[in-house]
Amino acid sequence: MQEVSWGLVLKEKSVLYACSVCGLHYTDRETAEECYAWCSAHSSCRLSVARKSVEAKRAMGKK
Ligand SMILES: [Zn+2]
Repeated sequence: MQEVSWGLVLKEKSVLYACSVCGLHYTDRETAEECYAWCSAHSSCRLSVARKSVEAKRAMGKK
């Protein structure tokens, strides 16, 4: 894993965008930036954004 710029995380086969405040990962940059903007302004997660995270999806729908 490699951290680039503010919160872009490159993983093996896919590129994930990480919110560097809360640490959640997103598959699209727009959502990650939304999360990052919210987190840095409110220092808490926005549920409607956080539920789009890779972690939330993983937790909801296991294989
Ligand atoms: Zn966040």
